[in-house]
Amino acid sequence: MSATKTYDVAVVGAGVFGVWTAWHLAKRGQRVLLLDAYGPAHTRASSGGETRIIRMGYGADELYTRWSQRSLVQWKELFAATHQQLFHETGVLWLAASGLREKQTVETLQCCGVPHRVLQSAELTRAYPQVDFSGVEFAIFEPASGVLMARRAVATVAADALRMGAEYRVAQVLAAEKSVNPQQIETTAGDVISANHVVFACGAWLGNIFPEILGPRIFPTRQEVFFFATPPGDTRFASPALPTWLFKEEQVYGMPDIESRGLKVAFDHHGELVDPETQSRFASGEGAEQARRYVARRFPALRDAPIVESRVCQYENTSSGDFLVDRHPALENVWFVGGGSGHGFKHGPAMGEYVAGQILGDAAAEARFLLASKETVQRRAVY
Ligand SMILES: Cc1cc2nc3c(=O)[nH]c(=O)nc-3n(C[C@H](O)[C@H](O)[C@H](O)COP(=O)(O)OP(=O)(O)OC[C@H]3O[C@@H](n4cnc5c(N)ncnc54)[C@H](O)[C@@H]3O)c2cc1C
Repeated sequence: MSATKTYDVAVVGAGVFGVWTAWHLAKRGQRVLLLDAYGPAHTRASSGGETRIIRMGYGADELYTRWSQRSLVQWKELFAATHQQLFHETGVLWLAASGLREKQTVETLQCCGVPHRVLQSAELTRAYPQVDFSGVEFAIFEPASGVLMARRAVATVAADALRMGAEYRVAQVLAAEKSVNPQQIETTAGDVISANHVVFACGAWLGNIFPEILGPRIFPTRQEVFFFATPPGDTRFASPALPTWLFKEEQVYGMPDIESRGLKVAFDHHGELVDPETQSRFASGEGAEQARRYVARRFPALRDAPIVESRVCQYENTSSGDFLVDRHPALENVWFVGGGSGHGFKHGPAMGEYVAGQILGDAAAEARFLLASKETVQRRAVY
């Protein structure tokens, strides 16, 4: 009888946080098993969208600005090494009305050496005549930021981790909360997997897997995304004519027509609390109406543009919006990794690197990511 294989690390969840964790651990010579109940960046995972923004601006929050910088370098290196075109340098435009946060953003971008320029409203109208900038005082432009092709990027990271020796299995892992032997996890198919460390990078499912500890601390909210058709033969709504944009004061963001999917628009305010396994994936009539009204106001030429695609996903929010990376309080070798809170995708590479450092014991822990900082009432502080 052959002895059961023991992995150094089992990573449960092949969303962006899980695959980059597996990638960094495999790169550091660890025997890694990556598991997912469905597949890397599947249709219900938070990482399963077509596109995600990577931007450097985070108000006064230098930690996430630096993580974004670090991550963009690694995303680009991976895409170059795997010959994939999965980053679109559309530029990212931060619109500002009163602009306190954007002024802080400018200071942080300066301090971190991020290329950017400030545009006043007259310059904005000249540069982007297809947009109605009413109420916008100024904007910050990050020319080197843009859009990641999300679900394909995750599949690429997973494939590259396998190339470096990680193994992958489709399996649903059972809750470990009451496990008597934390070195063994069980799947719903009855398999037992042995690993010295187990990382649960399970996005919005974390609260279902650890109901006592994380049920009250991870808030999965319903988020709807809409794509509007652009007029035939009209390139004003594609890059480079239109950049990716965010307007925090209106809690809305969007991106130009990428790969001919249409102009993307979404609202960043948190929707109703949902279960990622069971929530309806059909966009609501009210959500569509709200997006239509917004597009008609800001992009007058798209007033009657049809919605050609929609997606429903979920944010997996922590109380503040800070990520969660910590050990299970009672099981030393069980790790929680998640809390992407609507802004986690871009940070996948830095997150994987950080988690690998935590597990291998050669990196300092960031207090903002610890379980102790996660409250049971939401007070969003990170955008
Ligand atoms: C609409 C929308 C727009 C967003 N826009 C941006 C953006 O522009 N920029 C940005 O940076 N971020 C953005 N985000 C946030 C970002 O997408 C998420 O923070 C990130 O994808 C979270 O990744 P994750 O790996 O933690 O979770 P997920 O991608 O959800 O992955 C978790 C995985 O765990 C698996 N799993 C769960 N339970 C089990 C189990 N028991 N056994 C096995 N596998 C299991 C699931 O199947 C899933 O594949 C957005 C999110 C949404 C929803």
